[in-house]
Amino acid sequence: MMSHTTHIEAIGMLGSNVRDSWNCWYWTGSYSASGYGQVWSRVHKGPKRPHRIAYELLVGPIPEGLQLDHLCRVRGCVNPDHLRIVTCRENSFAPGARCVQAINAAKTHCPVGHSYDKANTYHHGGRRSCLACQRVRLSRRDRRISARGATPTPVAAYLSDTGKL
Ligand SMILES: [Zn+2]
Ligand SMILES: [Zn+2]
Repeated sequence: MMSHTTHIEAIGMLGSNVRDSWNCWYWTGSYSASGYGQVWSRVHKGPKRPHRIAYELLVGPIPEGLQLDHLCRVRGCVNPDHLRIVTCRENSFAPGARCVQAINAAKTHCPVGHSYDKANTYHHGGRRSCLACQRVRLSRRDRRISARGATPTPVAAYLSDTGKL
């Protein structure tokens, strides 16, 4: 939910930065390198897309992780009639950070081809990792340690110590 302050700020921003037109409402404020409008939100303490603000204000909230697609194909347009909510895969124009996460979450195999099933998956720093690949990395590490004449920690002990097994 947007706060009251955001609403007032957004109305002010849109009011001064949108040229009214029958068709597209062209954002006349600043743009990011990707060609979309960009505005600094004090409430979110970060950049916000003006077309998303316009949609949230005039149509309703955008569900978490979903994006807006420009039906008119004008990236600088903030006319909510020209915007449609899509999942990130449908929207080839705007792959964002959230899309990368969603696409990764949908992957069923690691880059080498091990299955991301329950027995072969561990979570580490918010990311999903492949246990089979981790075992390979650890046995390489063990060989390096042995080559130096030291005693490596057994892989299973290391994994259970670090909460990965
Ligand atoms: Zn438009
Ligand atoms: Zn793997």
